[in-house]
Amino acid sequence: MKRAKLSFSNIILITACLVVVVSILFLNVINTRNIITLKNSIDTLSIENKNISILRTTSDELLSAELLFTQFTQTNDRTINLQSAKSINKAVAHMKLLKSEGDSGRAAQITQQLKQEKPIGQLILDFEQLSELLKSGSMDLGNTTLIDSVKSIFSKTNSHLKTVLVKEDAFRENLNATIFKNAVTGTNVIQKFFWVSLLIILFIVGVLVYNIYKMVNYENEILEARERAMKLAQVKSRFLSNMSHEIRSPLTAIMGFTEIIDKIETDTEKKNYLHAIKTSSEHLLSTVNDVLDFSKLDAGKLKLEKQQFLIGTAIQEVAFALSTTSAAKKGIKVETVIELDQTLSVKGDLFRLKQILYNLLSNAVKFTEKGGVTITANVSGTSGNQVMVKIAVADSGIGIPNDQIKTVFEEFTQVTNNSTSKDTRRAIKGTGLGLSICKMLVELQGGTIGVESKLNQGSVFTFAIPYEVANNQAGVEVETEKEETIMNSLPASSLIGKRVLVVEDNDVNIMLLTMLLKKVGIVYDIAKDGEIGLQLFKDNPYDVILTDINVPKLTGDELATLVRQDVDASKRTIPIIGLTATIVQDDLDDYINAGINEVLVKPFKQDELYAIIEKYISKP
Ligand code: ADP
Repeated sequence: MKRAKLSFSNIILITACLVVVVSILFLNVINTRNIITLKNSIDTLSIENKNISILRTTSDELLSAELLFTQFTQTNDRTINLQSAKSINKAVAHMKLLKSEGDSGRAAQITQQLKQEKPIGQLILDFEQLSELLKSGSMDLGNTTLIDSVKSIFSKTNSHLKTVLVKEDAFRENLNATIFKNAVTGTNVIQKFFWVSLLIILFIVGVLVYNIYKMVNYENEILEARERAMKLAQVKSRFLSNMSHEIRSPLTAIMGFTEIIDKIETDTEKKNYLHAIKTSSEHLLSTVNDVLDFSKLDAGKLKLEKQQFLIGTAIQEVAFALSTTSAAKKGIKVETVIELDQTLSVKGDLFRLKQILYNLLSNAVKFTEKGGVTITANVSGTSGNQVMVKIAVADSGIGIPNDQIKTVFEEFTQVTNNSTSKDTRRAIKGTGLGLSICKMLVELQGGTIGVESKLNQGSVFTFAIPYEVANNQAGVEVETEKEETIMNSLPASSLIGKRVLVVEDNDVNIMLLTMLLKKVGIVYDIAKDGEIGLQLFKDNPYDVILTDINVPKLTGDELATLVRQDVDASKRTIPIIGLTATIVQDDLDDYINAGINEVLVKPFKQDELYAIIEKYISKP
């Protein structure tokens, strides 16, 4: 079996999908990293903001304290002195706060910078003392050394704070710039990935659309191919049924006349020639039937019949038919081992079972030169109302080589290249359809078929078909009885003097039919087309109409329809027997629906013709 391969566009599609998935994952990682960096930067920024604002407030308070102190030195106003002390206190409180924050991060660096002048602890102590001094009111304006040293503390500290603040501002600006830069880079990367992903997604959509377009095209092609195949199958089946019709029609004459002459001929040599013609035409007929069966099975058009029959009897009948003909000629013994109940009555297609058995048995006889053929039948299982009937046909013939055993059931297959038995096989001709028909027939009935074979030792073909068990025997008896009446009835005297209208355009067929009718004393009229036939029917009283289907002007079935519509109620019920070489079931059903009572398929035996006429004439 050919495995479906991934098309190039599908491979591209899968790769593109993988790329998109990987890039989305990558994008996600980058994104998360950027967000974490941004968050960290913002955190730092907010902490720094807090530290710097403490530093700024400290500086502001100290500046206002210095200003107030200067005013105090100029005005000697005690209240101003107290206000200055208050400002100093506030600045000290902030300094303490900064000191406590100073254990971590940027605040530590700030306190470090302050330390360059004086440790922050010392600063706090200095200013606390100064504040106490101012509050106590014991500041002597006359003590210029003291005043100058206080002023110097103020100015030094203030200018130092300013320097630190400027530095801090610069640091903050720098930090801001870094955060901004990070944010911009992050956004850029994300944007780039976004565009790349978008491009890939657009590409995938493109490939998808292309694939869908291709799929729709394929679907249309498949639909067209299916339509063509269906038309072709119809043409094939029509052709095969036409071909079969064309072969069957002349065969009717060949077989019919052979039978007639055979019955009157006494010369043995001539009789031998006649038998040769008979065997050849029978072979030709069976080949045509095989081809037709195969085409019907192949098109799933074969319908199965359901009738009651005895399994054991059916097998024995086929075995008997072959053992007295081809097997007898070759001196091969046909043995039957019926291991199932001889009275086992089942419901199924008797004709098809016999056909399968006949095919397998004639192959067994065909490919066996010495020894014998054995048919074994048993019930291999039961379930509910069903039995599995298993039948094996074993021979001691040339066998099938191992490498070809798998293909023997395939249509048109014939085993070749078998050095030991090549010549035997070459001498035996066939269509290679028999076994494939058997397989299809068995499978159509829900069964299985298989073969085991050893070269030059023999083959065993085994098949099993499930059958519904029939409860009573009545049906079987009726069937056999009916068959016997048809097969064994001889032209009865009841046919003498009966009037038959023959509608047929082919001269050879007319000759054959009239000869057969004359033989039993039937009076007849011939109509060479449907219209003449209808006229004759209207003008004369007949017991039966015997009409070919393919006659000019009015076909046999059209004629039947018109007869059934005749104004004369007593005339329109006349039995109509159709003659046709068609065995296509749908066509046969159409003829019956048109008003024909029964169809006799060509080629037919003399007795079959007499039996069918008698059957309708004797009906009340
Ligand atoms: P055909 O009409 O050519 O016999 P079949 O489908 O019946 O076609 O058989 C296919 C081939 O299988 C035969 O040509 C023959 O080579 C092989 N075959 C079938 N039955 C047997 C058998 N019993 N013994 C050996 N070979 C067989």
